[in-house]
Amino acid sequence: MDLRDTYDVVIVGSGPAGAGAARALTGSGLRVLLAERHELPRFKMCSGIVFPSGRKFIADNFGPVPDKVLCRPERVRGQRIYRSLDAPSIDVPFAVFDPEEGMEAEGLNTSRSELDYWLCSQSDAQLVGGHRFDDFEREGREYLVHLQHGDREVSVRTSFLVGADGTLSEVRRTAFPGFDDSISFLPNYEEFYLADIDLEPGWLHLFLDRSITGYFATVFHDEGTIQVVTGAHSQEPVREYFQAFRSHLEAKHGLVVKETLDSHGIGLTDMSAQKNYCLGSENLLLVGEAGGFLRGGEGITSSLASGKAAGEAILQSVASGKPAIEHFRELASEELRNCEMVHERLEAALGFNVFKRPLR
Ligand SMILES: Cc1cc2nc3c(=O)[nH]c(=O)nc-3n(C[C@H](O)[C@H](O)[C@H](O)COP(=O)(O)OP(=O)(O)OC[C@H]3O[C@@H](n4cnc5c(N)ncnc54)[C@H](O)[C@@H]3O)c2cc1C
Repeated sequence: MDLRDTYDVVIVGSGPAGAGAARALTGSGLRVLLAERHELPRFKMCSGIVFPSGRKFIADNFGPVPDKVLCRPERVRGQRIYRSLDAPSIDVPFAVFDPEEGMEAEGLNTSRSELDYWLCSQSDAQLVGGHRFDDFEREGREYLVHLQHGDREVSVRTSFLVGADGTLSEVRRTAFPGFDDSISFLPNYEEFYLADIDLEPGWLHLFLDRSITGYFATVFHDEGTIQVVTGAHSQEPVREYFQAFRSHLEAKHGLVVKETLDSHGIGLTDMSAQKNYCLGSENLLLVGEAGGFLRGGEGITSSLASGKAAGEAILQSVASGKPAIEHFRELASEELRNCEMVHERLEAALGFNVFKRPLR
């Protein structure tokens, strides 16, 4: 699909943050480009659980989730937490940590590829895969955005630029070159198995013992497969933790792997846990994990909500003539409070913040 030379808004990244921004701009008459580096629908490493507050957000802003987005088991009751390897588990239903009233008690189990593609398709933005953001230049009040498409560079001009490009945001790095020195990257690693295990489906099994993880490790049943994930501090060996976690699951939870289907690595940042957000400047806005929005381990809701705030801030900026960042700070403040509230509740329940655990 050919791109125009000029857009009103360019959104980089087709995750929930990009989808939330595109949806908020729908019907406004603004010309919006939603550019994703991978071909669509793209893979995203995630358990794919839409928490109750995310379910409400999607129902209110996008409508009913189509069946093809859902995985088995469709409902997720909450987190079953194992504080240490020997202690009995504690069940924490999702609703306990959700900041809004009147929501469903259970989360939804979704395929992130299908969910994100569907969310992005519910807008009138021009959605293109295979276009990687490289960098941008300022030209007066506009941004000249350089995208890589195969071996070709494509440049488009825009009045507003939204970085919705996740943890390792290139938009953030280009706009705020020193900022990433102030944050910690928390790498994680996952394997998907055809396997037997004696952990109950329909729960996110969350392990906190420091011998198997730098912050938390999880087991989740997804579409007949078992997803096993652990995380580390950037200075720590995530694969060693993973081997220790897998050995523990084999010894204590009857894990018998019949086939390893896939493996991936990615990471989170400590931006939200440290309240070290990077929201943007002038008419450049950072949303979702690019901006640091994360409710503990729940990122889908936070990304959708911050994306929506950015879309609304752009509409207000068009009307007021003021820089979008001024409106975004105000509109994103509710979601920042939600992030902080979830971190505080987790810390109160566990006695520590999982993202700020000291090095082993
Ligand atoms: C192992 C794991 C499990 C998780 N489980 C859950 C869960 O069950 N529920 C939950 O709510 N949250 C979960 N999270 C968190 C959640 O996945 C993230 O917080 C959420 O996806 C962030 O959304 P986003 O839109 O900010 O970024 P992303 O979903 O990461 O989307 C960013 C998009 O930008 C694209 N992109 C990146 N760079 C460029 C570029 N240069 N040019 C163009 N495009 C680019 C990427 O390809 C990607 O499609 C999990 C995270 C991890 C790591």
